[in-house]
Amino acid sequence: MANSSVKQQMGKLPLVGIVGWRGMVGSVLIERMLAEHDFDLIDPVFFSTSNAGGEVPLFNAQRVTKQVTTLQDANDLQALARCDIILTCQGGDYTKANFPQLRARGWNGHWIDAASALRMNDDVVLVLDPVNRMVIDAALAAGNKNWIGANCTVSLMMLAIGGLLKADLVEWVSAMTYQAASGAGAQNMRELLLQMGALRDAVQDDLVDPAVGILEIDRKVSAKLRAADFPTTHFRNTALAGSVIPWIDEPVEFGQTREEWKGGAELNKILGKPSFRSPGSIAVDGICVRVGAMRCHSQGLTIKLKRDVPMAEIEALLAADNAWIKVVPNERDVTERALSPAAVSGTLTVAIGRLHKLAMGPDYLGAFTVGDQLTWGAAEPLRRMLRILLDVDA
Ligand code: NAP
Repeated sequence: MANSSVKQQMGKLPLVGIVGWRGMVGSVLIERMLAEHDFDLIDPVFFSTSNAGGEVPLFNAQRVTKQVTTLQDANDLQALARCDIILTCQGGDYTKANFPQLRARGWNGHWIDAASALRMNDDVVLVLDPVNRMVIDAALAAGNKNWIGANCTVSLMMLAIGGLLKADLVEWVSAMTYQAASGAGAQNMRELLLQMGALRDAVQDDLVDPAVGILEIDRKVSAKLRAADFPTTHFRNTALAGSVIPWIDEPVEFGQTREEWKGGAELNKILGKPSFRSPGSIAVDGICVRVGAMRCHSQGLTIKLKRDVPMAEIEALLAADNAWIKVVPNERDVTERALSPAAVSGTLTVAIGRLHKLAMGPDYLGAFTVGDQLTWGAAEPLRRMLRILLDVDA
């Protein structure tokens, strides 16, 4: 039972400020909150950076507001400070502009955030309760008020291998990722589809003419990929459709990108372990690659186990860890059907398969995992943290 949870007091529901509800992560969050009847538990106040004073819209034709039916100014510290809890998916710039000032003026409420801006602060817990509920409960009991969602790729990987992590079987992980366009933002998802369309349009007539050779078609597609009019504004002058981009985010130390660094930094912080690259931490590294999937991240994992564990035991540990995991047998038909972005997109399922011991030795496990980066990768840990604060199981 949480010590400093925000319970209903004197018949009044907790005032929960919701910022960033209109964006991509925020929209998935609202969908999930509606599906799980979270709004029955709170008195929501909707904020906006662009339409303060406007009406709070109906969601799925439902009115979820109780007292406050107009949009509040998301940069109005006084309005924010009235909330018991603030749940934001607005982005890092918004967090940096408002969170420190709110705390500086003495606001003592709970801050739940999707953005990365605060993640590595000492007074922050990264929330992924199926994996780190004990860390969350201990921090709650100690009076922590800052709860931040972790990087989508890290959360999805940890949900997939939670059974091995909890059994303390993981020495290190190499994660080679296949990350969806949605991680780069809504405009990138649109641009991916524009790129796909442009490639198809370039060979539209040839595709229906069996006399045209495939190498001729390929030459035209390759020319289009490199053409000046190929739509690449949001992908920094690079093709994603018909290609891959082996670089996500900014460069950091040791030849890594920031996305790759997050794997080690955030996994260890989620587990409450010593910081990445220090003794007692789990080493996580690999190459993060953007691919032409819409909203599901996939990862090819090499897991160095601390000892040789039989495959049946590994599969049982993985399957028993949480309610969303789906262990896919290492067989062709079922893998093709169930272990792909196409299969899990828009769901809460985190699939893991291709499980087999690698040629390097019996303590090297190969695996492939895929999950939706907007559900478990972003929105779901946040709404579950809200429920934990309300002392209502997620
Ligand atoms: P987003 O879609 O760009 O939305 C952010 C805000 O942009 C909205 O709340 C809205 O604020 C404003 N906006 C302006 N024009 C809009 C339009 N046409 N449609 C919708 N909103 C519009 O941001 P996001 O991708 O959801 O990301 C939000 C935060 O979550 C970021 O910090 C991100 O790093 C983090 N995150 C993202 C992902 C991901 O996969 N995208 C995953 C995990 C975490 P107003 O309503 O106030 O105008």
